[in-house]
Amino acid sequence: MKSITRQKPFDEVKEHLSSFDRPFIVGCGTCTTMTRTGGLEQVVEMKDRLQGLNKRVSGWTVIPTACDEMAETAMKENRRALDDANCILAMTCALGVYRLGSYINHPVIPALDTLFIGVEDSPGHFHEVCMQCGQCILGETAGICPMTACHKGLVNGPCGGTNNGKCEVDKEKDCAWTLIYQRLKDQGRLELMRRYQPPRNFQAVPRPRIIKV
Ligand code: SF4
Ligand code: SF4
Repeated sequence: MKSITRQKPFDEVKEHLSSFDRPFIVGCGTCTTMTRTGGLEQVVEMKDRLQGLNKRVSGWTVIPTACDEMAETAMKENRRALDDANCILAMTCALGVYRLGSYINHPVIPALDTLFIGVEDSPGHFHEVCMQCGQCILGETAGICPMTACHKGLVNGPCGGTNNGKCEVDKEKDCAWTLIYQRLKDQGRLELMRRYQPPRNFQAVPRPRIIKV
């Protein structure tokens, strides 16, 4: 399971850094290395591009996991270079941006967009299976999440546009509700297709979502 990110267009990064001339760049050795959005290679490439804009990059590091307490250790280890920096450019997912921001006063600028939590089904191919809604209905949908897999997020599907097993929104993509139907049929549980799912109750786990274990 990985936090899936995409690099922001360089012009956007440039814009966010317009008032900062001494960035310190942070990458992550876990998710953004896997997705090649903020690993060693991409961090060095970013450093070179920023230096090409006459930014004085005060330093850079790739934290083994930027979303946990290793971020604090890395901040301490790089204290001198960080003192010389006036911002951090985070090539991490949003969890890493949050972590870095909780350990240091410098502005932390994300260089990536965080898209979703994904599983890798074949090398380099990630897809989303859950959007953490807090009211799981996978038991009634044969293990396929309609909120995540259906383009319209329908919990009572299919819509009228499903066509030969493909989705009307994206004809390359399988219709989630056709997949659910087929799997329920294989399991001899087709009656579940008729079960009405009430609208999601957003009070079930109010935001921000917090839990103490
Ligand atoms: S219903 Fe879908 S989004 Fe909600 S918890 Fe289950 S898998 Fe996740
Ligand atoms: S065609 Fe299927 S996947 Fe696409 S929006 Fe309709 S129900 Fe959802």
